[in-house]
Amino acid sequence: MKKERVVIIGSGPAGLTAALYTARAQLAPVVIAGEQLGGQVAITHEIENYPGFPDGLSGPELVERMQQHAENFGAKVEFDLVESVDFRSGSPFHIRTEDDEYLADAVIITIGADPRKLLVPGEEEHIGTGVSYCGTCDGFFFRGKDIVVVGGGDSALEEGIFLTRFANSVNIIHRRDELRAGIQLQTRAFNNEKISFTWNSVVEEIVGGDNGGGVSAVRLKDTVTGEETLHPTEGVFIFIGHDPNNAVFGDQIALNENGYIITDQRYRTNVEGVFAAGEIQDEIWRQVATSVGQGTSAAMAAIQWLEEREEELQVLEEAPA
Ligand code: NAP
Repeated sequence: MKKERVVIIGSGPAGLTAALYTARAQLAPVVIAGEQLGGQVAITHEIENYPGFPDGLSGPELVERMQQHAENFGAKVEFDLVESVDFRSGSPFHIRTEDDEYLADAVIITIGADPRKLLVPGEEEHIGTGVSYCGTCDGFFFRGKDIVVVGGGDSALEEGIFLTRFANSVNIIHRRDELRAGIQLQTRAFNNEKISFTWNSVVEEIVGGDNGGGVSAVRLKDTVTGEETLHPTEGVFIFIGHDPNNAVFGDQIALNENGYIITDQRYRTNVEGVFAAGEIQDEIWRQVATSVGQGTSAAMAAIQWLEEREEELQVLEEAPA
């Protein structure tokens, strides 16, 4: 097993930017990319708010460019999944993947977060045939249809507004009678004639169509009266938050109450030599541009930490016995 200077877990914008910076510092980083390059960004149809691309570009194109850029300076991208890590005995850290094993002086975790599921009957089996967690990816398939959006936060409203480009109508189902989303998005949603709201309601079941494919309705429960109703719809878009991908780290790294990795201003975790950037430690901003900035900072902190550590080790080596 070869010892690497830096291993980066995750290949979204934070990970690929950390790879670029550590590669330019001659550290030949290895990126453990998961099954698909780019994480959440890979399923983003168009990115319109990444500076320097005034005409927008697709998520896959952006991350492919980022990969190419990092590889040009010596980063190595491996399509593999991390199965376990051992942070307990300090640097070098042991990482086991499906196909390999790594020892790394420093680790940068950029493994992101996944959309939260409702966990109701009918959800899992209709993913891709009526249930979606990505308006930009799937909105096009619901042209002229009546669809529902579940959630009351910024994502639900932003995606709901976006989906009115395609759908005939968008009904936003929220479990309370007050939205969590910011006031500007609320105003835009209330002023959009294609959008309506179902308040105080939770989805109990996603009901399939008679012909076996697609969705025909959601079964709703009124959170105040307990009354159940069937609400006809052909599409269910779920935006109820994200869950950070922390499973592989177990209790080896400090997490906040929502499961996100706790970092300081230098993107250091509580384990010396382990850094984190992007949505695994940021539950607020969640933008490509912020992830890129965080990946940069984490990489620079890791580079500095490795340099200081090497100097310390050299002093110890040179000290008289
Ligand atoms: P969020 O703010 O956590 O909102 C999640 C929404 O889903 C809440 O309304 C919540 O209801 C509801 N919810 C959660 N679990 C549910 C369940 N099991 N069943 C039914 N409803 C459920 O998540 P988000 O909207 O994805 O936003 C995440 C972060 O990104 C936020 O900080 C947000 O400001 C930011 N963001 C910003 C923008 C923007 O500025 N343009 C766009 C997108 C996201 P309750 O309200 O009752 O808790």
